[in-house]
Amino acid sequence: MTKLLTFPLIITIALLSSCGIPLPMQKDLVVKDINAVRQFSTTDPTFSKYVQEFEHNGRRILNDGSFSVGDVPVNFGDTENPNFQGVCFEYPDGTKEVIIKRSWWDNVSEEYRESLIFHELGHCRLGRDHLDTVWFKEETGEEHKHSMMNTIIVSPGTYKDHKEQYQKELFTFKTDALFESLGLQEAEVQVLEK
Ligand SMILES: [Zn+2]
Repeated sequence: MTKLLTFPLIITIALLSSCGIPLPMQKDLVVKDINAVRQFSTTDPTFSKYVQEFEHNGRRILNDGSFSVGDVPVNFGDTENPNFQGVCFEYPDGTKEVIIKRSWWDNVSEEYRESLIFHELGHCRLGRDHLDTVWFKEETGEEHKHSMMNTIIVSPGTYKDHKEQYQKELFTFKTDALFESLGLQEAEVQVLEK
């Protein structure tokens, strides 16, 4: 059991390119103190297409023509923690915003960008918290994230291959399609809580 747990921890640290690191006190969903005021009121045009894609998929998957991101601006800025590439800030007046680290954004693929924006809007718009369980296939040692709301965001290759299914889980919490798409079978997979 010790060996089983040590191995994923090392991998997690090595692949750290995330919205956050897997420590309980460090999260990219941050509630600001009483004097804090939201920094932006509109979204940087750089992020418009990702926000539109999020809305388009939300309307389609939820079958709700009125679904929108609403008043959650997305902008470049200081995530206030070197381990966070993006963050959802919540303010005492009830407003929210997503802040993205530009130095990370400028050096990653489109899939990584979308994976991060959708994760942060998962916090700020859908009200979701982290879900760090993974499916572990003992036979091959493979681990698959249960959700885009994993503390370590879904990597670009996996996201590209299973985008529709990860988004279904994001909006509906239902994992059947994702589980099947990843080629998993109940009998041979364990669920690990991290
Ligand atoms: Zn997060």
